[in-house]
Amino acid sequence: MKLLEHEAKQLLNQAGISIPSAVLVTKTDLPELAVPVVLKSQVQTGGRGKLGGVVIVDSKEELTSMVNALFTREIKGFLPKIILAEERIDIQRELYLSLYIDRETKSIHLLAHPNGGIAIEEQDTAQLLNTEITSTSLIQQSKKLTDLFKLPTHLIEPLLTHLFNAFIKNDATLLEINPLIVTKADTLIAGDCKMELDDTAAFRHPDWQFEETTASSNFVPLDTSGNIGSIANGAGLAMATVDAINAGGLKAANFLDIGGGANTNSILAAFSRLMSFPGIQAIVINIFAGITRCDEVAKAIIEAKRQIPTLPPLYIRLAGTNFEEAVSLLNAEGISTLATLEECLTSAKKSIHE
Ligand code: GDP
Ligand code: MN
Repeated sequence: MKLLEHEAKQLLNQAGISIPSAVLVTKTDLPELAVPVVLKSQVQTGGRGKLGGVVIVDSKEELTSMVNALFTREIKGFLPKIILAEERIDIQRELYLSLYIDRETKSIHLLAHPNGGIAIEEQDTAQLLNTEITSTSLIQQSKKLTDLFKLPTHLIEPLLTHLFNAFIKNDATLLEINPLIVTKADTLIAGDCKMELDDTAAFRHPDWQFEETTASSNFVPLDTSGNIGSIANGAGLAMATVDAINAGGLKAANFLDIGGGANTNSILAAFSRLMSFPGIQAIVINIFAGITRCDEVAKAIIEAKRQIPTLPPLYIRLAGTNFEEAVSLLNAEGISTLATLEECLTSAKKSIHE
């Protein structure tokens, strides 16, 4: 899962790396901003600078129109929901620093270049540092970085240590600071950050509540007059569930694959979305849990029942990881599960025709 810049920067900051002071701007909430300010479109792609997604605003009069312009400016097909408004940093130099998982050697690599601000693919390779890094070789690698960046050890050692810790703690597969800014006051600050997290580690990060983890991206409305809502995991199973609903003489209102890293909140969001379909008379839940956990789905079901009084009857078939835990959680709330999708559909049909 790829994070937005502002999400990634929060994780950097928690690890002890300096980031510019910032506020978030949404379409409905433009807070009072001091100028000069850097406005940055929060989209899941790099190269925003060149495409007008990063703008420095010097006068208060231009703020509103610039914010509006950014909200309507598409960057490589993405429109931002949020704009990051940051203090402008006085740049002395821009550096490139990243950690990534090298799949061939199954190790973490340190990648660095003394010229930052442009994509690493476009750099000359002569000055590129690309080396394996482990917790025990951190100090040694700091020395190489000190030479490459021509910066003192007391700045580099803590930075690299914090970066490494952030990488491990957050189960990252990529953590890139570009540019890493050397300010005119000779301090280091992360000007931009790109971070990718390992989706298969989501089970041990209940704190992962990022933009991308909402289920809406895998939600496809099919038929506003559909009478059955569907919640499944995995695109194949979700399609098969839709087909089975339709083949059984019912009408699927939607396709939904809650995905591997689904958590209580993202599943709850799916329930809320289903409630916007006026024709839904029952919801079929078909989960074959591998990475997804049945107990997480069960918690979301219980919470949805609490929060949404008008929730239609649910027909639930669960299998796989933490199935027993899920059943006992549901049973304690008086919610039953069925053994097969077929039984779910038969019961849904009966309830509709009653
Ligand atoms: P990207 O193009 O999507 O990678 O966006 P970045 O956040 O990396 O910004 C692109 C460029 O804008 C940087 O390399 C800087 O040259 C410039 N920039 C961004 N923030 C600041 C800032 O606070 N001060 C100054 N002077 N330039 C900035
Ligand atoms: Mn950048």
